[in-house]
Amino acid sequence: MKDYYIFYDDDFIRQSKATLSVLSASTQFGLNVFEGIRVYKEDAYYVFRLNDHLIRLNNSLNQIGFKTEIISSKKFIEIIKELIILNDIKTDFSIRFTYLINEVDSWSSKKNPVFFIAPLIRKRNSFDFHKTVIVTKTRRISSLAMDTKVKCGANYINGRYALLEAESKGADLPILKNKDGFISESTGACIFLVKNGVIITPSLDSDILESITRDTLIKIFLKNDYKIEERHVSEKDLIESDEIFLCGTSAEITPIKHVETKDFKIGDLTKFISEEYQQAVRAKNYLNYNWTTKFKI
Ligand code: PMP
Repeated sequence: MKDYYIFYDDDFIRQSKATLSVLSASTQFGLNVFEGIRVYKEDAYYVFRLNDHLIRLNNSLNQIGFKTEIISSKKFIEIIKELIILNDIKTDFSIRFTYLINEVDSWSSKKNPVFFIAPLIRKRNSFDFHKTVIVTKTRRISSLAMDTKVKCGANYINGRYALLEAESKGADLPILKNKDGFISESTGACIFLVKNGVIITPSLDSDILESITRDTLIKIFLKNDYKIEERHVSEKDLIESDEIFLCGTSAEITPIKHVETKDFKIGDLTKFISEEYQQAVRAKNYLNYNWTTKFKI
C-alpha cells in the first residue's frame, strides 16, 4: 500500500511515520474506538452520513470511558480536504477515524486518547462479486458482556474467529448467531433477507452494531412503500429466503450467492436497493434526508 499522508496526533504525517508504543493499552488490549466513513467523488466530494458517524463515535468514546471532546464536523472536513490535496485523491475513498491510547498503561487506562484520520484508497468490490456465507459455530458476542453498539477494536476479534472458521470451511464470510440462537450479523456488515416478498432484517436487540447503512436502507425501502420486518431472525428464515444481502459502509450492498447448501441469485429487490443506495450516497436522490456533506477542493 502507498505510504499515504494521515492526520495523527495533530499533525499531517506519512502513515509509516506514525508511531504507537508496543506497550500502549491500544496495542495490548485493542483499546480503541473508530468509524469507517465513505467519501464519494462526483462533481464535488460527498461524505455520507458524516454527522451520524460522529454521533456513533462520540457514543463509543463515552461508553468506553475515553475522556475527550470529539472534533467537530467542520474540523473533520478541513482535515479531509488537506488529506485529499496531500494524497492527490481523485476517486471515491474510505476514511478510518480512530481514537486510541498511545501511552504505556493498562486496559483500564484513563489517559487522554489521541486520534488519527487516515484515507483508505482501495478498489471496491463490484456489486456482482457476490459471496458465499456459512452460519458459524462461533456466536456473536453478547451485548450483556461487550456492547456490540460500541465500535471498538476489541469487538472485532469476535469477527476474526468467525471469519477464520468460515474460511476454513470454504466460505467467504461468516453469519453469526447471537447468544439466543438468532441471526445477528456478519463481520463488518448487517444482513437483510427477502422471504416471500417481505424484507426482513434482525432487530437492534440481536447483538448487532447499529449500522448506519442498515438504517439508510430501511428508510429507502419505506420511502418506496416497502414494508420491513425488524425482528428476531432464525436460521430457518435465512435458508428459506429468496434473496440475501449484506450491507455496510464498506460492504455497501453485497449480495449473497450461497448459504450452506443453497444457491441464491441476485434478486430484484437486492438490485433495486443497491441502485437506490448509490443514488443516495452520490447525492442524486433522497436529498431531503440531508445525508450527504458536500465540499469542493
Ligand atoms: N456490523 C459490524 C460489526 C460492522 O463493523 C459494520 C461496519 N461498520 C457494520 C455492521 C455496518 O455498519 P455501518 O453501516 O454503519 O458501516
